[in-house]
Amino acid sequence: MILNRRAFISKTALTAGTLAFGSSAFGQKASEDAFQLPDLPYAPDALAPHIDAQTMRIHHGKHHAGYTAKLNKALASLPKMKGASIEEILKSLPKVLDPTVRTSLRNNGGGYFNHKLFWEIMAPAGQTGQPSSALSRAIDQSFGSLEKLQEAVTRAALTQFGSGWAWLIVQDGKLMVTSTANQDNPLMQGLIPNRALGTPILGVDVWEHAYYLKYQNQRGAYLSAWWEVVNWDRVSQNFDQA
Ligand code: MN
Repeated sequence: MILNRRAFISKTALTAGTLAFGSSAFGQKASEDAFQLPDLPYAPDALAPHIDAQTMRIHHGKHHAGYTAKLNKALASLPKMKGASIEEILKSLPKVLDPTVRTSLRNNGGGYFNHKLFWEIMAPAGQTGQPSSALSRAIDQSFGSLEKLQEAVTRAALTQFGSGWAWLIVQDGKLMVTSTANQDNPLMQGLIPNRALGTPILGVDVWEHAYYLKYQNQRGAYLSAWWEVVNWDRVSQNFDQA
């Protein structure tokens, strides 16, 4: 796994190295949008009562849609990034020369990636599966038990001041819990502390827009409910691929 990860990073670095990231006045047409808002993998009310339908509709249809549109707008000034994956873009941000474009890619590219992962790692209660045996072993090694892992993620989510995310990441083949501010994420090498870098396999959104309609200021109540809809089958797949 470590060798594969190194090979991937080295391939990404090479790819990034061949691209010139200066801005251009030539924009893309809307029909050439690099990224599209992904559909929710379930109905907006499928996670209720843990996450209510109105929150899901606004979160996906307004917030995630907004990040996606602004990501495409920022990319329109970087024709050399055409065809790059969102992961490649997020790992290449320090090479983007224009500070306005770089900030927009950081916020909106982060928002695009983070929410896509967030929808995927949730499922209706009762359809969430369980951690695979490989993931369970890794959880036991790093945290002692699934309960201890959940405590660590919850603690990171509760102590993230203001808006941000708490993450379960694979770093050098090991599981770790970390958190980032705003729409930053563990892929953003060069922008966040090295200790928070890795491949995210689970993330929880602690922006107030993720919970305020139902839970108001009670972030802890939201997090307790959120664990009921974590899709362990998907997290296990993400772990296998990390
Ligand atoms: Mn959000």
